[in-house]
Amino acid sequence: MKYYVLFGPPGAGKGTQAGSMVERYQLCHLSTGELLRSEISAGTPLGLQAKTLIEAGNLVPDEVVEGMIESKFRSVKNVKGFLLDGFPRTIAQAEALDAMLAKNGEAVTACVSLMIPDALIHERIAHRANIEGRADDARPEVVENRVKTYHAKTEPLIEFYRKAGRYHEIDGVGTIEEVRERIFTEMDKF
Ligand code: ATP
Ligand code: MG
Repeated sequence: MKYYVLFGPPGAGKGTQAGSMVERYQLCHLSTGELLRSEISAGTPLGLQAKTLIEAGNLVPDEVVEGMIESKFRSVKNVKGFLLDGFPRTIAQAEALDAMLAKNGEAVTACVSLMIPDALIHERIAHRANIEGRADDARPEVVENRVKTYHAKTEPLIEFYRKAGRYHEIDGVGTIEEVRERIFTEMDKF
Protein backbone atom coordinates (compact mmCIF):
# COMPACT_ATOMS: atom_id res chain seq x y z
CA MET A 1 0.00 0.00 0.00
CA LYS A 2 1.09 3.54 -0.77
CA TYR A 3 0.45 6.24 1.82
CA TYR A 4 0.78 9.77 0.50
CA VAL A 5 0.52 12.80 2.74
CA LEU A 6 -0.84 15.78 0.79
CA PHE A 7 0.51 18.71 2.73
CA GLY A 8 0.12 22.49 2.53
CA PRO A 9 -1.29 25.58 4.23
CA PRO A 10 -5.05 26.28 4.20
CA GLY A 11 -6.13 27.17 0.68
CA ALA A 12 -3.03 25.64 -0.94
CA GLY A 13 -5.20 23.63 -3.33
CA LYS A 14 -5.09 20.23 -1.64
CA GLY A 15 -8.77 19.48 -2.14
CA THR A 16 -8.63 20.78 -5.72
CA GLN A 17 -5.67 18.62 -6.75
CA ALA A 18 -6.67 15.52 -4.80
CA GLY A 19 -9.30 14.47 -7.35
CA SER A 20 -6.94 14.00 -10.27
CA MET A 21 -4.29 12.45 -8.02
CA VAL A 22 -6.58 9.71 -6.68
CA GLU A 23 -7.75 8.94 -10.20
CA ARG A 24 -4.28 8.69 -11.74
CA TYR A 25 -2.76 6.60 -8.94
CA GLN A 26 -5.90 4.67 -7.87
CA LEU A 27 -5.89 5.98 -4.33
CA CYS A 28 -8.57 6.53 -1.72
CA HIS A 29 -8.93 10.24 -0.86
CA LEU A 30 -9.16 10.82 2.90
CA SER A 31 -9.73 14.46 3.81
CA THR A 32 -10.08 15.00 7.55
CA GLY A 33 -11.66 18.42 6.82
CA GLU A 34 -14.34 16.78 4.65
CA LEU A 35 -14.90 13.93 7.11
CA LEU A 36 -15.38 16.47 9.91
CA ARG A 37 -17.73 18.60 7.80
CA SER A 38 -19.93 15.58 7.14
CA GLU A 39 -20.02 14.79 10.88
CA ILE A 40 -21.15 18.40 11.41
CA SER A 41 -23.92 18.21 8.81
CA ALA A 42 -25.06 14.86 10.21
CA GLY A 43 -25.24 16.48 13.65
CA THR A 44 -23.31 13.70 15.41
CA PRO A 45 -21.80 14.30 18.89
CA LEU A 46 -18.36 14.36 17.26
CA GLY A 47 -19.63 16.93 14.75
CA LEU A 48 -20.99 19.14 17.50
CA GLN A 49 -17.65 19.06 19.31
CA ALA A 50 -15.74 19.81 16.09
CA LYS A 51 -18.02 22.63 14.89
CA THR A 52 -17.05 25.15 17.57
CA LEU A 53 -13.34 24.45 17.14
CA ILE A 54 -13.41 24.60 13.33
CA GLU A 55 -15.48 27.76 13.20
CA ALA A 56 -12.93 29.47 15.45
CA GLY A 57 -10.08 28.33 13.18
CA ASN A 58 -8.66 25.92 15.75
CA LEU A 59 -7.65 22.29 15.29
CA VAL A 60 -9.80 19.46 16.59
CA PRO A 61 -8.12 17.10 19.11
CA ASP A 62 -5.48 14.75 17.68
CA GLU A 63 -7.29 11.62 18.98
CA VAL A 64 -10.43 12.54 17.04
CA VAL A 65 -8.78 12.72 13.62
CA GLU A 66 -6.45 9.80 14.36
CA GLY A 67 -9.49 7.64 15.13
CA MET A 68 -11.25 8.67 11.90
CA ILE A 69 -8.18 7.85 9.81
CA GLU A 70 -7.48 4.52 11.46
CA SER A 71 -11.07 3.34 10.98
CA LYS A 72 -10.87 4.26 7.25
CA PHE A 73 -7.60 2.33 6.91
CA ARG A 74 -9.44 -0.74 8.24
CA SER A 75 -12.63 -0.37 6.20
CA VAL A 76 -11.49 0.76 2.74
CA LYS A 77 -10.57 -2.10 0.39
CA ASN A 78 -9.45 -2.45 -3.21
CA VAL A 79 -7.23 0.59 -3.53
CA LYS A 80 -3.52 0.93 -4.25
CA GLY A 81 -3.13 3.35 -1.41
CA PHE A 82 -4.39 6.42 0.41
CA LEU A 83 -4.09 10.12 -0.20
CA LEU A 84 -4.19 11.82 3.18
CA ASP A 85 -5.42 15.40 2.76
CA GLY A 86 -5.21 17.63 5.82
CA PHE A 87 -3.76 14.85 8.00
CA PRO A 88 -1.36 14.81 9.78
CA ARG A 89 -1.52 18.43 10.94
CA THR A 90 0.59 18.14 14.11
CA ILE A 91 3.79 16.26 15.00
CA ALA A 92 1.74 14.09 17.38
CA GLN A 93 -0.58 13.10 14.51
CA ALA A 94 2.42 12.29 12.28
CA GLU A 95 3.85 10.06 15.00
CA ALA A 96 0.48 8.39 15.51
CA LEU A 97 0.27 7.77 11.75
CA ASP A 98 3.75 6.22 11.70
CA ALA A 99 2.75 3.99 14.63
CA MET A 100 -0.52 2.89 12.92
CA LEU A 101 1.36 1.96 9.76
CA ALA A 102 4.27 0.33 11.57
CA LYS A 103 1.88 -2.22 13.12
CA ASN A 104 1.58 -3.72 9.63
CA GLY A 105 5.18 -3.10 8.62
CA GLU A 106 4.17 -0.12 6.48
CA ALA A 107 5.28 3.51 6.30
CA VAL A 108 4.47 6.86 4.68
CA THR A 109 5.53 6.69 1.03
CA ALA A 110 5.94 10.43 0.48
CA CYS A 111 4.83 13.81 1.69
CA VAL A 112 3.76 15.91 -1.30
CA SER A 113 3.72 19.51 -0.21
CA LEU A 114 1.90 22.29 -2.05
CA MET A 115 3.53 25.56 -1.14
CA ILE A 116 2.01 29.03 -1.53
CA PRO A 117 2.87 32.33 0.17
CA ASP A 118 0.64 33.65 3.01
CA ALA A 119 -0.69 36.53 0.87
CA LEU A 120 -2.09 34.04 -1.64
CA ILE A 121 -3.74 32.00 1.16
CA HIS A 122 -5.89 34.99 2.05
CA GLU A 123 -6.70 35.76 -1.58
CA ARG A 124 -7.76 32.17 -2.39
CA ILE A 125 -9.82 31.69 0.76
CA ALA A 126 -11.61 35.01 0.28
CA HIS A 127 -12.50 33.87 -3.24
CA ARG A 128 -13.61 30.40 -2.04
CA ALA A 129 -15.79 31.91 0.71
CA ASN A 130 -18.11 33.26 -1.99
CA ILE A 131 -18.31 29.91 -3.77
CA GLU A 132 -18.39 27.15 -1.14
CA GLY A 133 -19.95 29.03 1.78
CA ARG A 134 -17.76 27.42 4.47
CA ALA A 135 -18.23 29.14 7.83
CA ASP A 136 -14.48 29.00 8.57
CA ASP A 137 -13.67 30.82 5.31
CA ALA A 138 -16.05 33.72 5.85
CA ARG A 139 -14.37 35.69 8.65
CA PRO A 140 -10.90 37.20 8.11
CA GLU A 141 -9.98 36.80 11.80
CA VAL A 142 -10.77 33.07 11.61
CA VAL A 143 -8.66 32.67 8.47
CA GLU A 144 -5.87 34.59 10.24
CA ASN A 145 -6.07 32.12 13.15
CA ARG A 146 -5.92 29.16 10.76
CA VAL A 147 -2.78 30.58 9.15
CA LYS A 148 -1.25 31.19 12.59
CA THR A 149 -2.15 27.66 13.66
CA TYR A 150 -0.63 26.31 10.45
CA HIS A 151 2.69 28.06 11.10
CA ALA A 152 2.79 27.07 14.77
CA LYS A 153 1.58 23.47 14.70
CA THR A 154 1.62 22.16 11.14
CA GLU A 155 4.71 23.70 9.53
CA PRO A 156 7.10 21.71 11.81
CA LEU A 157 6.01 18.64 9.80
CA ILE A 158 8.13 19.88 6.90
CA GLU A 159 11.27 19.21 8.94
CA PHE A 160 9.78 15.94 10.23
CA TYR A 161 9.30 14.53 6.71
CA ARG A 162 12.49 16.12 5.39
CA LYS A 163 14.51 14.29 8.05
CA ALA A 164 12.74 11.06 7.07
CA GLY A 165 13.78 11.70 3.43
CA ARG A 166 10.11 11.77 2.42
CA TYR A 167 9.51 15.47 1.74
CA HIS A 168 8.69 16.61 -1.81
CA GLU A 169 7.79 20.25 -2.29
CA ILE A 170 5.73 21.47 -5.23
CA ASP A 171 5.26 25.11 -6.17
CA GLY A 172 1.53 25.67 -5.63
CA VAL A 173 1.43 29.01 -7.45
CA GLY A 174 -0.04 28.83 -10.94
CA THR A 175 -3.11 27.52 -12.69
CA ILE A 176 -4.79 24.29 -11.51
CA GLU A 177 -3.42 22.52 -14.62
CA GLU A 178 0.13 23.81 -14.11
CA VAL A 179 0.22 22.66 -10.50
CA ARG A 180 -1.34 19.30 -11.46
CA GLU A 181 1.42 18.68 -14.04
CA ARG A 182 4.10 19.48 -11.44
CA ILE A 183 2.53 17.01 -9.00
CA PHE A 184 2.26 14.25 -11.63
CA THR A 185 5.89 14.75 -12.70
CA GLU A 186 6.98 14.27 -9.10
CA MET A 187 4.63 11.40 -8.22
CA ASP A 188 5.31 9.42 -11.39
CA LYS A 189 8.75 8.78 -9.85
CA PHE A 190 7.35 6.90 -6.82
P1 ATP B 1 -7.58 23.26 2.21
O1 ATP B 1 -8.09 24.60 1.88
O2 ATP B 1 -6.22 23.04 1.62
O3 ATP B 1 -8.53 22.19 1.90
P2 ATP B 1 -8.15 23.92 4.95
O4 ATP B 1 -7.19 24.11 6.07
O5 ATP B 1 -8.83 25.12 4.44
O6 ATP B 1 -7.37 23.19 3.80
P3 ATP B 1 -9.61 21.54 5.84
O7 ATP B 1 -8.44 20.66 5.63
O8 ATP B 1 -10.83 21.21 5.11
O9 ATP B 1 -9.35 23.04 5.42
O10 ATP B 1 -9.87 21.60 7.43
C1 ATP B 1 -10.88 22.42 7.98
C2 ATP B 1 -10.76 22.43 9.50
O11 ATP B 1 -10.98 21.11 10.02
C3 ATP B 1 -9.40 22.86 10.06
O12 ATP B 1 -9.24 24.25 10.15
C4 ATP B 1 -9.42 22.16 11.44
O13 ATP B 1 -10.20 22.88 12.35
C5 ATP B 1 -10.14 20.86 11.16
N1 ATP B 1 -9.18 19.78 10.83
C6 ATP B 1 -9.03 19.18 9.62
N2 ATP B 1 -8.05 18.26 9.65
C7 ATP B 1 -7.56 18.28 10.91
C8 ATP B 1 -6.52 17.58 11.59
N3 ATP B 1 -5.76 16.65 10.96
N4 ATP B 1 -6.28 17.86 12.90
C9 ATP B 1 -7.03 18.75 13.55
N5 ATP B 1 -8.00 19.47 12.98
C10 ATP B 1 -8.28 19.24 11.68
MG1 MG C 1 -9.52 20.66 2.13
